[in-house]
Amino acid sequence: MVLNNGSESSRPRCITILGSTGSIGCNTLDLIQRDPEAYQVEALTANSRVDVLAKQAIETNAKFAVVADESKFFDLKQALSGTSTEVGAGPSAVIEAAARSADWVMAGIVGAAGLHPTLTAVRRGVNVALANKECLVCAGDLMLAEVEKSGATLLPVDSEHNAIFQVFEFDQRPAIEKIILTASGGPFWNTSLRDMQKATPAEAVAHPNWDMGAKISVDSATMMNKGLELIEAHYLFLMPEDKIDVLVHVQSIIHSLVAYVDGSVLAQLGSPDMRTPIAYALGWPNRIQAPSPRLNLASIGNLSFESPDAERFPAIELARQALRDGGAAPTALNAANEIAVAAFLDKKIGFLDIAKTVEATVAKYSRTKILALDDVVAIDKEARIRAKECLTLCPIAI
Ligand code: NAD
Ligand code: MG
Repeated sequence: MVLNNGSESSRPRCITILGSTGSIGCNTLDLIQRDPEAYQVEALTANSRVDVLAKQAIETNAKFAVVADESKFFDLKQALSGTSTEVGAGPSAVIEAAARSADWVMAGIVGAAGLHPTLTAVRRGVNVALANKECLVCAGDLMLAEVEKSGATLLPVDSEHNAIFQVFEFDQRPAIEKIILTASGGPFWNTSLRDMQKATPAEAVAHPNWDMGAKISVDSATMMNKGLELIEAHYLFLMPEDKIDVLVHVQSIIHSLVAYVDGSVLAQLGSPDMRTPIAYALGWPNRIQAPSPRLNLASIGNLSFESPDAERFPAIELARQALRDGGAAPTALNAANEIAVAAFLDKKIGFLDIAKTVEATVAKYSRTKILALDDVVAIDKEARIRAKECLTLCPIAI
């Protein structure tokens, strides 16, 4: 990870939020709107929710608002008529938003759709708050090369990676034995395999501790989220796969840990509220106020820890294997997972078929190399087609 000097920036800071209408985007805006004098919003982007995007643009007096779905251009133009906000539509306008002169960009788009916009922000050499873990999973080496070239700083937003970032002594790297990612276990941690196959999308997105978008909620239920986070951690902290452990901690109070050679283990704790890690990334290298509920450990009483269950949650091992294989395997893993999760949410496959689809797809990519961004785009596209073919092998669910 590359860290800039992080000198205190002059106020107001100019920020862009990619994916402003999502869970991460709305939490970021919540923080910004608590201190409006401190920020100038350069650009906001959304996929299709024009009403929410227009409201956000008006409230923050954003300079540029973009909807990725081109067919919504006139709706957005109309909703923002009479304001000074410029309007754009289509994937190229999302990239244009990322290219504009913000000095802090939240990468809050979900999935590989966030790769080009996030890379565009990285290439500007600014602070990029990274929530979009999928772009590191599908193009980790290339992203890091761009970070290195531009001098950008990646500020981890994922709560686990943000926790590690807070307790990782970068100048003591040889003294770090391993990092330990905590996992809530999701809504099915205590559910039998039989009941998991019958699980509905509504049950899968009902996360016990966190309020998140649909895709990451399903990823948490399969624990593929932890698999993706393992790969994300490998790239963010340059740790080998065998030095990244996963620990199930159902209360989601300890957000992750770093173990040192002297036996010390440093952890970051907090209530499960994304505004804390987002505030850390927004204020970095300083700390800023966040309204997250304060931790009352006496009232929580006990914190528990368990090992992950590989039989009911095979996704973690699939991600480990993809990381060990390297090359195109993580790209294919991510693409297949996006297709399988969408099919599950669409009630086309059963819950356990998600990991089966990923496994069948990734197996075809264990030896394929990735040399350039074009390779990532090609493998992502091809793996999506193959994953769709695998879906047809799954029994129709529910
Ligand atoms: P979400 O579904 O709530 O929001 C996604 C955002 O991306 C929306 O603004 C949507 O309009 C936009 N978007 C979706 N598809 C797009 C496309 N094709 N082109 C352009 N924009 C598009 O998702 P979220 O829960 O906010 O998650 C966002 C990212 O942050 C994901 O990568 C997720 O893994 C990560 N993350 C989320 C949380 C959380 O608490 N929600 C925690 C850690 C990490
Ligand atoms: Mg996380």
